[in-house]
Amino acid sequence: MTRFYFDHNATTPIAPAVREAVVHALDEAWANPSSIHQDGQRARRMLEEARARIASLLGCAPKEVVLTSGGTEADNLAILGVVRADPRPSRHVVTTAVEHPAVLEACAQLEREGVALTYLQPDRQGRIDADIFRRQLRPTTVLASVMHANNETGAVQDVAALAAIAREAGVLFHSDGVQAAGKLPVSLASTAISLYSISAHKLNAPKGCGALFVRQGVTLAPMLHGGRQERSRRAGTESVTLAIALGAAAQLDRPDLTTLRDRLEQGILARVADAHANAAAAPRLPNTTNIRFDGISAEALVIALDLRGFAVSTGAACSSGSVEPSHVLLAMGLSPEQARSSIRFSLGLGNTAEQVDQLIEAVAESVARLRKLSPTYSEVTP
Ligand code: PLP
Repeated sequence: MTRFYFDHNATTPIAPAVREAVVHALDEAWANPSSIHQDGQRARRMLEEARARIASLLGCAPKEVVLTSGGTEADNLAILGVVRADPRPSRHVVTTAVEHPAVLEACAQLEREGVALTYLQPDRQGRIDADIFRRQLRPTTVLASVMHANNETGAVQDVAALAAIAREAGVLFHSDGVQAAGKLPVSLASTAISLYSISAHKLNAPKGCGALFVRQGVTLAPMLHGGRQERSRRAGTESVTLAIALGAAAQLDRPDLTTLRDRLEQGILARVADAHANAAAAPRLPNTTNIRFDGISAEALVIALDLRGFAVSTGAACSSGSVEPSHVLLAMGLSPEQARSSIRFSLGLGNTAEQVDQLIEAVAESVARLRKLSPTYSEVTP
């Protein structure tokens, strides 16, 4: 059966140009980039070219790019690194209730270390209000961390405006840009953002690589202790191959997926009664729609669509498989039942209008069949 992939926010297939860059790197850049001989120097040159490409995706200087093992490490390094480097006895961090676990669990670790945390609640559309944000900053606030785009709903925060507010208050600002990079224009140099995380596997490159933008002058306590790689911010021999993959991914031409996403969303809403797009009134990533189907178990629908050849998701990949409703949708004010009936569709390279039309059809048929079996659903619209 032909399979169609609509789960690009979970991970992405490898782009052909990235694959080529990886194979080339395996042959040409295998040496240790810290070695002074010519083999090492060639690996170093290719590593630094990759770093420059990553920097150009982010609109920052190459020396502000710290290579990591992925988005989770980048988020942890930003949050734990900044707060642990601050010697004040009383420290406070502001974040939001809709962050990825990579941020939420790093913050939970800080709480165990005695740091005070404030979790901002979003509005019904998943947006964080700038005035509420401003009011939560205290003289002891070290860091604020607000994601650029949400992985489940695609809701985009005005991180440039929030970072400007933080800077005025003397607070460093981190943003998890794992879902935003490559999908939205990012130009960090012209903002007050101090730290920004990205991940290669959301950008059509392999898993195991990410990067953290660290603005010049920001001090981090490293998490890994060892050699002086990455200007002493991240010890360990760099994965030159994966950095080159991320560099190649940073240069890919990416189509604007808004039209295709809107075709999918509008097609589903037109065909299926009692379906609602979550966070649809917020500015959103161009590739994401999160739709709630009254009376349906999201997991049952994911399985039904999978059997028809379509890969979609109930939301965050790490929470799928568990019956817990999404913490993001709950924070937006949805009931547990509404959260449990919401599906994420996320588009990317390779998706076509024809695939979208087939998906709409499959969703309409699957929802109708599941609702016939549902004890709780009775259609309200004629
Ligand atoms: N932050 C967000 C918003 C994500 O969507 C993800 C991955 O799902 C991560 C962080 C973690 O990135 P990685 O899988 O590279 O560790």
